Amino acid sequence: MSTKSRHSIYGGRIRGAEIRARSAREAAKNAAREANRAEAEAWSIRMEGYGGPAQPSPTIAQCLHGGLGWLEVECNRCNTRASLPLDAIRRPRDTPLWKLEASLKCRSCRKGRYAPPVHMIKLTETREIAPYVWVHPDEER
Ligand SMILES: [Zn+2]
Repeated sequence: MSTKSRHSIYGGRIRGAEIRARSAREAAKNAAREANRAEAEAWSIRMEGYGGPAQPSPTIAQCLHGGLGWLEVECNRCNTRASLPLDAIRRPRDTPLWKLEASLKCRSCRKGRYAPPVHMIKLTETREIAPYVWVHPDEER
């Protein structure tokens, strides 16, 4: 067989297989994103609809990857709600959301070391409420 015909026979098959590999990899990536989004949504709906339980919960990374990057929380005392950008929380990305709750504090209700608890409402794609009066976990001393 000449080099030329070898090229025309195998070259096309190789390109075909490479294209299939690429699109399968793309599909797998999309499926992983879909799975993360669905898991984050399920958690969010459970929180909003039933108020919990917060555990188990998706991780920060799963929410960000799934496109739900904002966590809405409410102060148990003054009922102020706020949206927190998950990508700004300096915690390991594999931290499950429920672990954040204890360290979130309402700035207007905080008195010294004491702050009333807050609870998580839901996840959103974008910031839905403007006021940002919350203390980040990483601001804690
Ligand atoms: Zn408050």
